[in-house]
Amino acid sequence: MPIAEPSKRLQQIPPYMFQELERRIAEKKAAGIDVISLGIGDPDMPTYDYIVEAMQRAVADPATHQYPSNRGREDFRQAFADFYDRRFGVAVDPANEVIPAIGAKECIYNLCNAFLDPGDVALASDPGYPVYTGGPLLHGATAELMPLVPEKGFAPDLSAISPEIAAKARLMFINFPNNPTGAIVPDGFFEEVIEFAREHEILVVHDNAYSETTYDGYVAPSFLATPGAKEVGVEVFSVSKGYNMTGWRCAAILGHADAIQSYWRLKTNVDSGLFEAVQIAGATAIAGPPEPLAEMNATYQRRRDLVVSALGAIGVDVTPPKGTIYVWAPVPEGHTSTSFAETVLEEAAVVVSPGSMYGPSGEGFFRISLTTPDDRIEEAVERMREHLA
Ligand SMILES: *Cc1c(COP(=O)(O)O)cnc(C)c1O
Repeated sequence: MPIAEPSKRLQQIPPYMFQELERRIAEKKAAGIDVISLGIGDPDMPTYDYIVEAMQRAVADPATHQYPSNRGREDFRQAFADFYDRRFGVAVDPANEVIPAIGAKECIYNLCNAFLDPGDVALASDPGYPVYTGGPLLHGATAELMPLVPEKGFAPDLSAISPEIAAKARLMFINFPNNPTGAIVPDGFFEEVIEFAREHEILVVHDNAYSETTYDGYVAPSFLATPGAKEVGVEVFSVSKGYNMTGWRCAAILGHADAIQSYWRLKTNVDSGLFEAVQIAGATAIAGPPEPLAEMNATYQRRRDLVVSALGAIGVDVTPPKGTIYVWAPVPEGHTSTSFAETVLEEAAVVVSPGSMYGPSGEGFFRISLTTPDDRIEEAVERMREHLA
């Protein structure tokens, strides 16, 4: 039976480019080879106990079982206001400057829905989280890529954006600490963004997925802590990575009250809010003790150092990242991102992500994720030393 064709918007999404790599991984696994994946950015450790326990209590309470409101529970909004004050020194009005999201991914996608018309432009970090480009396309708009330039510490060069593009731009997606490059925000960059956004009337969306996942004593700021940020932007704070809660789908959007009002209005037409038990769990997560997070970060830091030293042994020099769960490294001479990933798979039965997966400016790099148990990371780096050095 022929059925309706997918929409032109959906068809516009570029086809998945890494089928060949996936095919080879499947082939190796089918042949009984022990393939270690360092490709996926999904924490391997369980959600911290105090959060699971809060969820167990919350889910047993029938008061959480009905439709939630898209504005969110008062205690959720208050918990985020308290957390932003304590952690970032940012004052957030719990009444109208914060509401829940069903994960940062939902939030970023629906901000496109709320703010983009056909012909509009969203400025998207490249390489970057795929929804920065897919979200605009699925709303008939276009994503203009802002290459993350190494000379600028993997921040976009705003002076390279043409006046024509800037005039059409309505959204800008930025993200620090950054996936996939592991970069932290360079001094003065948020200030530059605010000035640019003011001049061109752009809503800035800072995707904050990694502020709690940092190393070597680095403490990541909130975008909203920069003077003027709240007048031009919002921040999406996800508990997914820092609290090992990727499966729970819990985030919050904070900042510009009118922007949040528009997002809320859109969502009342799209979904029915975040399960109240999950709101309680999320609020509990950010109010929790510092030890579980500190322990988790110590684990990632240890894994990071293992990976960086193994890469050094095969002739790939990288500066250890101060945040995120990724090591971003240049491919050796004579390789493309994909050919190097294929070589690592063939020689060492280890999966690394080709940088070009995250956008054209990722070409020439590969990404290793630190979310694999210690013994497997050790085994993977041992194999890379043995077969690629
Ligand atoms: C993992 C990740 C997300 C997804 O967050 P969810 O809250 O789980 O949807 C968003 N942005 C970046 C940069 C990420 O790495």
